Amino acid sequence: MQAKKHFGQNFITDKNLINKIINCLDEDSDLIIEIGPGMGALTGELVNKFKKVIAIEIDKDLEPILREKFNVPNFELVIGDVLEKDFKSLIDFSKYNKIQIISNIPYYITSPIMFKVFEDSKIFSKAVFMVQKEVAQRICANVGEKSYNNLSITSQFYSKPKYEFTVGKQMFKPVPAVDSAIISLDFKDSHISEISNPEKFVSFVRQIFNNRRKTILNNLSSTIGDKPKSQSILNELNIKLTHRPENLSLDDLMRIYKNLK
Ligand code: SAM
Repeated sequence: MQAKKHFGQNFITDKNLINKIINCLDEDSDLIIEIGPGMGALTGELVNKFKKVIAIEIDKDLEPILREKFNVPNFELVIGDVLEKDFKSLIDFSKYNKIQIISNIPYYITSPIMFKVFEDSKIFSKAVFMVQKEVAQRICANVGEKSYNNLSITSQFYSKPKYEFTVGKQMFKPVPAVDSAIISLDFKDSHISEISNPEKFVSFVRQIFNNRRKTILNNLSSTIGDKPKSQSILNELNIKLTHRPENLSLDDLMRIYKNLK
C-alpha cells in the first residue's frame, strides 16, 4: 500500500517500539479507542492484550486489510473522520468503565484531536499519543521553560502529561521530516473540577497567550476592560504586574480566572 501523505500516514513496524508504546497504557483497562490504526501496527498488540478495541480510521482503502487482519470479536472498526465522531455514542458505558485512548496521531490534525480528547477527557482515564517531538516538549513544559505556552497549560489543566520517550524519524515509513515522541496524559490527575466552566477557562488562557508580549496587567486590562480592577486582582494574588504570560503557572492563571468571576 502506498502511504497517503494527505492522511498523515507514517507507519511504524518495529516490534520493540510497538511494545514500548503499548506498555505506556495502564494494563487494567476494558476498552481502548485507537485513532488511525493504519495497517494495524499497534492494533495487533492491542487486541491481544485488551478486552475490547474500537479503532477509527478515515482511509477506506485500509478497511479490507484491517477487517481481514483482525477478524476477532473484541475488535470493532469505525470508518470515518475521528473529528466528526462522537466518542460517547461509540461506547457502551454499561460494559466498560476504564477506557483509554491511543494514537500515532496524523500530524496534520494534532491540535484538533488533542482538543477533542480534552473536551471529552472525563470519558478517558489515560491517553497515549505519538506527536511531533516539539509538540511533546510544549505539552510537558513547565513554567519558565523555553517551550512553555498555552498548550502546556491546557494539557496540564486537563491531565498530568508525561514525556515518555523520543522516537527517531527513521522509525517511520515513509520517513517524516521531524522526530517524534510518545507522551501520556493521565486524566485522573486533572484540575477541571476546580473550575466551573473548563472550556471558558481554556479560551481565557488562549486569549491571554494571544497577547504574549504584553504584561499580564495590560493583557488582563484589555481582556476585562478595567485596568484598576485588573491591578487590584493581581496585587491581591501577589502576582507581579510586569509578568508576561509565559511567567504564569497554571495555578496563577486559575487563581486570576476565579477572581474575575
Ligand atoms: N497506527 C498506524 C501506525 O502507527 O503505523 C498508523 C499511524 S499514521 C501516523 C495515522 C493514521 O491516521 C493513518 O492510518 C491515517 O489514515 C489515519 N487518519 C488520518 N486522518 C484521520 C482522521 N481524520 N480520522 C481518523 N483517522 C485518520
